[in-house]
Amino acid sequence: MILKKYDGDLSSVDFLDMMMIDISGNMRHVSIAKSYITDNIFEEGIGFDASNLGFAKVTKSDMVAIPDMNKAFVEEKDGFKILHVFCDVVDPFDNERSFEHYPRNVIKNTVKYLNELGIADTAKLLVELEFHVFDEVRYSSAHNHSYYSLNSSEGIGESFGSLPRMPHDSGYHKLYPEEKYFTYRNTIVSILEGLGIPIKYHHHEVGIAQLEIEVNFMDLEEVADNISIAKWVIKQVANEMNLYVTFMPKPIYKMPGNGMHVHQFLVKDGKSLFVGDKEHGLSDIGLNYICGILDHALSGSLLAFTNPSTNSYKRLVPGFEAPISATYAKGSRSAAIRVPGYLKKNAVRIEYRTGDATSNFYYSFAAMVLAGVDGILNKLDPKERGYNSTDNMEDKIFPLDLDAVLNGLKQDHKYLEKVFPESLIEEWIKIKRKEANYVYNAPTPQEYELYF
Ligand code: GLN
Ligand code: MG
Ligand code: MG
Ligand code: MG
Repeated sequence: MILKKYDGDLSSVDFLDMMMIDISGNMRHVSIAKSYITDNIFEEGIGFDASNLGFAKVTKSDMVAIPDMNKAFVEEKDGFKILHVFCDVVDPFDNERSFEHYPRNVIKNTVKYLNELGIADTAKLLVELEFHVFDEVRYSSAHNHSYYSLNSSEGIGESFGSLPRMPHDSGYHKLYPEEKYFTYRNTIVSILEGLGIPIKYHHHEVGIAQLEIEVNFMDLEEVADNISIAKWVIKQVANEMNLYVTFMPKPIYKMPGNGMHVHQFLVKDGKSLFVGDKEHGLSDIGLNYICGILDHALSGSLLAFTNPSTNSYKRLVPGFEAPISATYAKGSRSAAIRVPGYLKKNAVRIEYRTGDATSNFYYSFAAMVLAGVDGILNKLDPKERGYNSTDNMEDKIFPLDLDAVLNGLKQDHKYLEKVFPESLIEEWIKIKRKEANYVYNAPTPQEYELYF
């Protein structure tokens, strides 16, 4: 995959590829032919059917996508030069106003809200991407449903046989040639760094053929776009190497799952607002922020955005470093919020560890920050709330299935209202409820085993 920063030379471009984000957070695109690339497109954009992206009603589904040239990059692919550009979306039925449901606009409005409140200039986020790689995917059908059967060169799969295998919980920081994906990760990282997306490091994760890439701190304004690009590059490079990649939170039963930990802090005038002399070296603002996140995670509301799939809750089980209760601690990997133990005093920050990469990044990052801000506005104190570092106190366990967190979101979304229109919350609950019904209403292989 050859990706480069856009140097402004439009004449050599074969296609203008306009990229949009759908309601689930997936990238979509439409490619404009060379002869159709005019100044007009950059100013007035191009119409498209928003209903097929999960937005708007079919009866009022015309929206306009306008290229944001600040988020443009060039791909050389099979002899073609493609100018990819992320788009903003405006609503022609609403005086060309920014369409408030559109994920990029949700992020922009979150930053605007932070500024209006005068609390912070922005948030800084570091995102850890965990995923599994397979070198074979078999597709079969059972009970009219399809499922994937997976095999990996590191040893997952049906053919346990006599082949030497990496133990399923000892892959952490393994070295090649025992692990097979060093060059794969190097390739991804050099592409992303070439685009100016900062990477901290990459390594083999705990599970067999489980990998991690940490994308270094970025401003809230750009982090979701860049994580979307990173996820796409990870999939695309895998495809070129005949590998299959999944970010599914729990692709393999009883083996480590894939989380998406997000380190974060608020900044004002170039300074962190979280550094202080209170618990764990945090400021009051930092502690309030933690409490806001834990409150809205415990109601289920925040999880409806950070863990929005049925599979999310198969990861959230004890024993796999995937936190399931409203806890915060220094250094503990079973706390929902960890204050990393290795940081210098002036670099203190918090790490929210519950979320996963099935989220719409735009919505989940926005919801996290808004939950934290709610904690600040209401001066919430995590100690007073009874949150501590001890695991799994009965009344502090998160709701742990998709239906339950959607019920939580239905009850508890006032903290989101400045950015997420009520109609977006309703739409989100509706599409996620449909997913939940699809999965929970279908008999599973386990049920046949137990009850047939
Ligand atoms: N895979 C774990 C999770 O599901 C995290 C493991 C780690 O990063 N040490 O969150
Ligand atoms: Mg990590
Ligand atoms: Mg990890
Ligand atoms: Mg982490």
